[in-house]
Amino acid sequence: MFTPLATALTDRQRIAEKTMEFILQRPTGFDYQAGQHVLLKLTELLFDDKKGPQRTLTLASAPHEESLRLATRMTGSGFKRTVFEGANQKVEIIGPRGNLTRDATRPAVFIAGGIGITPFRSMVLDAAYRQLEQPMTLFYSNQNLARAAFHELFVEIQQKHADIFTYIPTLTSESSGSNWDGERRSLSAAFIEEYVMDWSTSTFYICGPPAMVTAVHEILKSKNVSQEHILSESFWGYEA
Ligand SMILES: Cc1cc2nc3c(=O)[nH]c(=O)nc-3n(C[C@H](O)[C@H](O)[C@H](O)COP(=O)(O)OP(=O)(O)OC[C@H]3O[C@@H](n4cnc5c(N)ncnc54)[C@H](O)[C@@H]3O)c2cc1C
Repeated sequence: MFTPLATALTDRQRIAEKTMEFILQRPTGFDYQAGQHVLLKLTELLFDDKKGPQRTLTLASAPHEESLRLATRMTGSGFKRTVFEGANQKVEIIGPRGNLTRDATRPAVFIAGGIGITPFRSMVLDAAYRQLEQPMTLFYSNQNLARAAFHELFVEIQQKHADIFTYIPTLTSESSGSNWDGERRSLSAAFIEEYVMDWSTSTFYICGPPAMVTAVHEILKSKNVSQEHILSESFWGYEA
């Protein structure tokens, strides 16, 4: 059991289409591992929400960063409208929880769909900060560039840490008239194989909508990746 910790939302900004980032004060002594999540509980709802005043959200910040950072797709739910409205709002966090954390002894293959990128922002920054030596490959699938939160950050990290970090964004519905010259393919065994040489030595981390997580599990199964080397988290709750 965790004691709820009082804190406050101090800042917010739009980081992609329909996607906001929220900054929270870090409560004294609050510690967590990259990839973990918290239950964010509002002290009051300004708009009705049948699910109540709390949601599970992953800490997109890395443990060495001073503040806590959350990122979420805005859907119009009463919870999210309240978070968006209230500047310097008092809130509580409960946690940290979750096992989507890095095995630093093996190469990592991160596979994110949409807002499922949040744990990987934390893990990639953490690995760069701690100078972990095992390589990381990040596949990041979005419909288009406008929806790809933290894209520029990952481009920058790849430039600085090309020896350990490979970033593969793929935009599955980017308009054919755009100047995007990167990947557009949906995730598949053939696609992943072009970048991941050896399926047996890496640990795979999957995060995104449930259907995407299931599909990637199937791909990994077809390549005989052992279950013990697959960690995943499904972001339930976006379905109406
Ligand atoms: C371990 C874990 C970690 C997670 N981490 C993250 C994260 O880092 N970031 C993140 O974004 N999510 C994360 N999620 C998902 C998150 O907990 C929510 O389920 C999700 O954000 C949807 O919440 P919501 O308030 O937008 O929609 P809900 O209230 O759950 O509603 C579901 C859908 O109903 C519709 N809807 C609801 N109310 C309204 C309204 N008033 N008007 C119009 N439409 C409405 C919307 O289409 C919405 O998508 C995580 C989930 C888990 C389990």
